[in-house]
Amino acid sequence: HGVPITIRAMQEKTTPEEIIKKYHEMIKESFKKLYIEFDNFSGTHREIHFKLSQEFFLNVVKNGYTIVKEQEQFYCETDKMFLPDRYINGKCPKCGYEYAKGDQCEKCGTTLDPTDLIEPKCAICGNTPILKKTKHWYFTLNKFEENLKKYLESKSDWKPNVRDFALSWIKEGLKDRPISRDLNWGIPIPLEEAEGKVMYVWFEAPIGYISSTIEWAEKIGKPDEWKKYWLDPNTKLIHFIGKDNIPFHAIIWPATLMAQHGNWILPHNIPANEFMNLEGEKISTSRNWAIWVDDIANEFNPDAIRYYLCVNMPETKDANFYWKEFQEKVNEELANAFGNLVSRVLKFLNSKNNGIIPSLDNNNLSTLDKNILKNLEEIPQTIGELLEKFEFRQAIRYLREIAFLGNKYIDETKIWTLKPNTPEFNTKLYISTQIIFTLGLAMYPFMPASSKKILKMLGYEEEFIQSIKWEDIGKINIKEGKKISENIDPLFTKIPDEAIEKQIKKLKESATKEHVEIDATDETIDIEYFKKLDLRVAKVKEVYKIPKSKKLLKLIIDVGGIDKQIIAGIGEIYSPEDLIGKNIIIVNNLKPAKLMGETSYGMLLAAKDSKGNLSILTTDTNIESGSKVS
Ligand SMILES: [Zn+2]
Ligand SMILES: [Zn+2]
Repeated sequence: HGVPITIRAMQEKTTPEEIIKKYHEMIKESFKKLYIEFDNFSGTHREIHFKLSQEFFLNVVKNGYTIVKEQEQFYCETDKMFLPDRYINGKCPKCGYEYAKGDQCEKCGTTLDPTDLIEPKCAICGNTPILKKTKHWYFTLNKFEENLKKYLESKSDWKPNVRDFALSWIKEGLKDRPISRDLNWGIPIPLEEAEGKVMYVWFEAPIGYISSTIEWAEKIGKPDEWKKYWLDPNTKLIHFIGKDNIPFHAIIWPATLMAQHGNWILPHNIPANEFMNLEGEKISTSRNWAIWVDDIANEFNPDAIRYYLCVNMPETKDANFYWKEFQEKVNEELANAFGNLVSRVLKFLNSKNNGIIPSLDNNNLSTLDKNILKNLEEIPQTIGELLEKFEFRQAIRYLREIAFLGNKYIDETKIWTLKPNTPEFNTKLYISTQIIFTLGLAMYPFMPASSKKILKMLGYEEEFIQSIKWEDIGKINIKEGKKISENIDPLFTKIPDEAIEKQIKKLKESATKEHVEIDATDETIDIEYFKKLDLRVAKVKEVYKIPKSKKLLKLIIDVGGIDKQIIAGIGEIYSPEDLIGKNIIIVNNLKPAKLMGETSYGMLLAAKDSKGNLSILTTDTNIESGSKVS
């Protein structure tokens, strides 16, 4: 129910409901592509959630944890509404940027209050808003300072960065926080005197964890089942979040739960991650400095993506997604270590033993044999403990270690020099097979598709994997005499340089440059400089959409009798029919540039306003194409 959704709805000329429906489905699909499953993938725009959030609010009021404050807030008389911070534009008092928003100036980064803005304007209609009195319900967070401090201090097993960050917040003193705001999108405050007011997202969103559990319990036909989780002190409630969410989950959310005076459990642990950056820069979806799950999952093995993200997880400090490093990890670790081990063993089995798993001679095990078997036995314990401590990076690195050990075992036993059908050959081959069998089982939570693939080639179905308890995977021996599959597929294929270079290029080309306004008074140019620009009138002849791009259109234009191709980022505003036959203004002597594989031999001129509206430049009368503009 955040303001970004209403703003997005305004931009896409639709309703907030449509926006959340659309993105809910998209996000769900993205998770699926990376083999991430949910018992219940819910949302907060549901009746069950409205009801529970309103109950929570009323309890907070009843138990004396709210105060009502009256204040002045910007109100637009044209749109008949109070304006949230981001609905107000104006001049930044610090740097003078014309289009600063009510909460922040994007140019200089200063955090702002709407009343700080010089000449504030309504972002919807552009008129000047007035200040109008309104009242709001505030959550008296400071009443929980002592209890929160005790709670956090008892969490000695938390990541130090998470706990210290939360404690430092308390040390600075907790301030009253408005629960209500004037907006028509969100969960209504269930009080008569609060008409037109809804809850802030920070208050109701985490309650979604509970309402989703209730929804799930109803779906499975056991409507009370959710209580087993939320009201049982033995439940371990874990929140997997990013560090920007720490205050909400470690302070505000526990306080909301405490304020209920019920039996709600509190978060057991909050293993927040630091940030994952991209090629050394902060990820920004608005600048398109990002990798979209859909794109990457379509082009690369999802297990490889999971592996790289896990082995490189920003558990204790910020990490980076580097395309080159991704390639390196896939080629050197997944293909060479995991993949090679599996294919070596399976090929031996097929070529030297008719695809039959040999028998193990337990009485003649070497130290090397015994050591490797012990290593396999210890996998569930070792990895299990790491996962319990949220050390995912170490856990997957341990798996990688097993793959290295497996390759080493084959190298050291020189299995290819042994005579088939001898007890020694059989034992070594059996142990090699056991290595990939146990490794395959242990990979299931990390790389499920590859795990299934290994087990399948060994003749086991997914149900078999699912029937095994994690703690038992080190104890189960692969069946002697079993026939394996004759079709041996490589587990991971290497990523060629071209594929990675293509991604880096795509990232750099599609990222928009930081939005920087040049103030005319800052820098003047002389007429000679301007004359270097060859601006021309051109006539649009043909227009094509560029596949996979919403923004880009390919235009074939006539410039004084010469046909030219240009690529323009106006596809979201203009359709091909709008453009054909129109006069446009182009920069004729711009260096050719490639966009999404298409070359642009010039640039079309268009104007863009602060709301993102775009309008192409044209001529007042129908002047000859190729005419010079000056
Ligand atoms: Zn500024
Ligand atoms: Zn307005």
